Amino acid sequence: MDRLVLFDIDCTLIDAHGAGGRAIYAALERVYGVSGDLDGYTFHGRTDPAIIRDLATRWGAAADEVDARLEECLEVYVGLLAGEVGAGRTDTMPGVVELVAVLAAEPGVVLGLLTGNIAEGAAIKLAPTGLGEHFTVGAYGSDSGLRPELPAVAVRRAEELTGRRFVGKEIVVIGDTPADVECGAALGVKAIAVATGRHSVAELAAYGPDHVFEDFSNWRRALVAILG
Ligand SMILES: [Mg+2]
Repeated sequence: MDRLVLFDIDCTLIDAHGAGGRAIYAALERVYGVSGDLDGYTFHGRTDPAIIRDLATRWGAAADEVDARLEECLEVYVGLLAGEVGAGRTDTMPGVVELVAVLAAEPGVVLGLLTGNIAEGAAIKLAPTGLGEHFTVGAYGSDSGLRPELPAVAVRRAEELTGRRFVGKEIVVIGDTPADVECGAALGVKAIAVATGRHSVAELAAYGPDHVFEDFSNWRRALVAILG
């Protein structure tokens, strides 16, 4: 059966223990000279460009300066992230190594990333895990700051790669936040939520995903939900 299966990265595939947040924080200070408290602001479900814009302006940088130097800030971020990931620990979430490997070997399945990380950041975060090689398409925060625009990007790239245009429930979006559950609504995708991030099963269920899991430790059950 043909499926385009799109995984979020942070708290869905891996836990990089705050490496991304630390790198963004340091990049904002270096490029815009701003810092401050998060005051309840959450990185979860947002794209890297959106996080940079939100925090830089919240901490006092002028919006036009933020946009003018956004590419520079992302470059600084990538360098800092490589250092953070290299010095820190990256864990894979329960069952993810098995689930991704089985899906990658499944005929008819195209495996992709759908993430707020910019493409270079995604590669750096996945490098310690070896998971990156399994994903043949991706839609990233570097494609759009708006997560709801990302599923269509992934569908287009999958079509360019395979000649197959995936539609509706053939497209499966998997993630740990309400933003992941909602981003594919316009395309009528199958949304699978996993409570390995900040949000509980009950919180995620309130957004109406097709399936919700505590985690993927029972990866065979997740596989049935994805391919079913
Ligand atoms: Mg996530």
